[in-house]
Amino acid sequence: MSKKYDVVVIGAGPAGYIAAIRAAQHGFKVACIDEWQNRDGKYAFGGTCLNAGCIPSKAMLESSELYHRANHEFKKHGIVTGEVSLDVGAMQKRRAGIVRQLTGGIGGLFKANKVDGLVGHGKLLAGKKVEFTPVDGDPEILDATHVVLASGSAPIELPFAQFDQETILDSWDALELEAVPKRLGVIGAGVIGLELGSVWARLGSEVIILEALEDFLAMADRDVAATAMKDFKKQGLDIRLGAKVSETSVKDGVVSVSYEDKSGSQTVDFDKLIVAVGRRPYTEKLLADDSGIRKDERGFIVVDDVCRTEVKGVYAIGDCVRGPMLAHKGSEEGVMVADLIAGESAEVNYEIVPSVIYTAPEVAWVGMTEAEVKASGRAYKTGSFPFAASGRAKAMEQTTGMVKVISAEDDDELLGVHIVGPMAGELISEAVLALEFAASTEDIQRTIHAHPSLAEAVHEAALAVDKRALNYINR
Ligand code: FAD
Ligand code: AMP
Repeated sequence: MSKKYDVVVIGAGPAGYIAAIRAAQHGFKVACIDEWQNRDGKYAFGGTCLNAGCIPSKAMLESSELYHRANHEFKKHGIVTGEVSLDVGAMQKRRAGIVRQLTGGIGGLFKANKVDGLVGHGKLLAGKKVEFTPVDGDPEILDATHVVLASGSAPIELPFAQFDQETILDSWDALELEAVPKRLGVIGAGVIGLELGSVWARLGSEVIILEALEDFLAMADRDVAATAMKDFKKQGLDIRLGAKVSETSVKDGVVSVSYEDKSGSQTVDFDKLIVAVGRRPYTEKLLADDSGIRKDERGFIVVDDVCRTEVKGVYAIGDCVRGPMLAHKGSEEGVMVADLIAGESAEVNYEIVPSVIYTAPEVAWVGMTEAEVKASGRAYKTGSFPFAASGRAKAMEQTTGMVKVISAEDDDELLGVHIVGPMAGELISEAVLALEFAASTEDIQRTIHAHPSLAEAVHEAALAVDKRALNYINR
């Protein structure tokens, strides 16, 4: 006899577990299946984000930033320490502890919401049946009225730089290193490459990041990208643009990396190499041949704008479908499909998905870049405010960067906000909310911002759009 569920979710990453909880809140009988196994052999909910992505990377970014500041900034504050030393083992233990607590928390949330969290493999068969194979048992069939596919993504492997978990690493390995490599190479100056490069550079590695494109952070606003690049260089991150890696070879624990740039062929040796050239949708053994689900040429499950697949009653969300590979995008899709299943109207506003890079300074943006607005043909105005003029930033000793606001000339509509600087990832939330409410720049100008706060920089940048900045000379 097969077990019956209203909703079966395959994948308990930030897309799947949120979809499961929201569906249970609607009163449905829900199962959520996941097979993630950590390197210690333990199974855990939470997917890439909690186990090998967002959370452990932020834990390591925080630890490495504190170490860096203790070495380079404490003196300025009048704090005198002896020599500051590093215990990478303890740092890694803290990282693993945070991951354990948060992934265990999902188990608790499932229980409280009466979601059946099932540990094992899920496969969609024809007719909305799901074959569930427990990690230590025989397959059973779950009969589902609705299925949500949330199988996530995996790192892209370069054929000439295959992961060996020893010298050539993916982002997960790179987060769990037990010692600081002397020479560290990173292929790809995207979000993940920059974050991981920053962690190990702050802990003492000589880091070289090789990026095939000529433009740095091509998806970001040019002013923000230029400011970030200048600061990363100052920190000693050697970011080589227009450097296309074409070959690697490993000998005696040293990896030689060959790349082409404007001046020809180059080779550089590293003790470890992180390959961070993007991620691909992960759908291995997820779909029976007759499931009816179609994938596009890049392997993404084909869905419409509300995440319905071509099979009625089957949805797909998160990294395994189109759109930015971000946890918060997947979670919002999870909420949307659960609400749709409950018969409510729901949508995700894909125009307003914030992007954050958790380097120091942080980089965050939402809405259109200046180049995109220009290309749209709409007349626009911009304003910016440097953190160097912010009292709070000065008190924090973090004055790098600025806030840039872009607004429409005709009706003052807020079009984009771009930040590089301290806590940019927190500050961007105000802009996300403003865009969600279709705010005008004047709405932000007339909103009271606490003093002294970093958020005042957003306020002042909005004022600067109309040359009304109060704490900075308008240009
Ligand atoms: P996943 O988190 O990948 O979860 C999918 C789950 O499904 C996995 O647990 C997998 O085991 C399970 N699964 C797959 N197939 C099956 C099956 N057939 N049966 C059972 N289980 C299955 N995003 C951000 O928004 N902010 C960040 O700061 C950020 N930092 C990142 C840092 C790194 C180093 C990396 C690698 C990623 C980062 N991301 C970040 C991206 C983020 O992790 C992903 O966008 C997010 O995890 C996608 O969520 P998901 O639920 O779609 O998939
Ligand atoms: P993202 O997709 O944001 O994670 O970034 C991955 C980055 O890796 C992109 O900017 C790519 O241009 C870069 N990249 C991909 N392949 C190579 C390569 N062979 N050599 C150098 N950079 C690469």
